Amino acid sequence: MPDDLLDYGWLIGIFAIALILGPLFALRPTSQKRGKVPMPEDWKARLARLPHAACIDDAQRLRWHEDVETFWNRVTVAGCQGFWVNADVRLTIAGYACLLRLNAPKGPPYPQLKTVLVYPQPFLVPQTEPDEYGLVPDEPIEQIGESWSGERVIVSWADVEAALMGDAVNVLVHEFAHQLDDESDDASGAPPWRDADRWAKVMQAEYDTLQRHRRPKVLDAYGKESPEEFFGVVMEAYFQRGADMARHHPALYQLLEATFGLSTEQVTWRTEVLVAP
Ligand SMILES: [Zn+2]
Repeated sequence: MPDDLLDYGWLIGIFAIALILGPLFALRPTSQKRGKVPMPEDWKARLARLPHAACIDDAQRLRWHEDVETFWNRVTVAGCQGFWVNADVRLTIAGYACLLRLNAPKGPPYPQLKTVLVYPQPFLVPQTEPDEYGLVPDEPIEQIGESWSGERVIVSWADVEAALMGDAVNVLVHEFAHQLDDESDDASGAPPWRDADRWAKVMQAEYDTLQRHRRPKVLDAYGKESPEEFFGVVMEAYFQRGADMARHHPALYQLLEATFGLSTEQVTWRTEVLVAP
């Protein structure tokens, strides 16, 4: 090996280590707080500002508040890439996570979940799945959310805000539907407490119909991917396009209303951002 290359050997070594460790540090949350963060005194009033807070009755609201408080105290919510997690961010995440399980058997919500990471915008992640040639592409892909089996959820805040203003995509509902799915050990794409026969019959029929549609009206075509993604997509439409779903997929809407307990045909969307990303 020539001398000058030997001289630079240590530099090359440091560069190689930085290349390996860099992405790991980039993923590290930037504003994680240790210990308990106290809830603001007006947390119930702040929760009431969420668009779907008006879709539940008083008895459900008591259960919702109980679950949100437990979620707040147990799950770490941390910002990435400089995003600052304030009380409204925490309450929006806890609020939507817990709206999905108002009809679940009582107990701590999402017992496996440890962390929710919040990026200000869609984020890049390395690809891990091989393509049709068996190769893993080098290019990272952009994501607005991820759910890691049981323990972690990651979301883009810009997309959460869009959902609060009525966008058809609701990344919180989608990712927390995956979390509920992970709690069901007897089925894919289903919450654990469903009426199993009715659920299987209606969901299978709707899944088959979606597979045949080139341009589905209410359900996003991404739901064709798998029963798990179909469940995520169906839940988004139930929250964001309840009236359209009730009109075009009445059996599906009635199944979801019976299973999750929210009437989502009328929602008052926010007209300004809650927290700027
Ligand atoms: Zn998904």
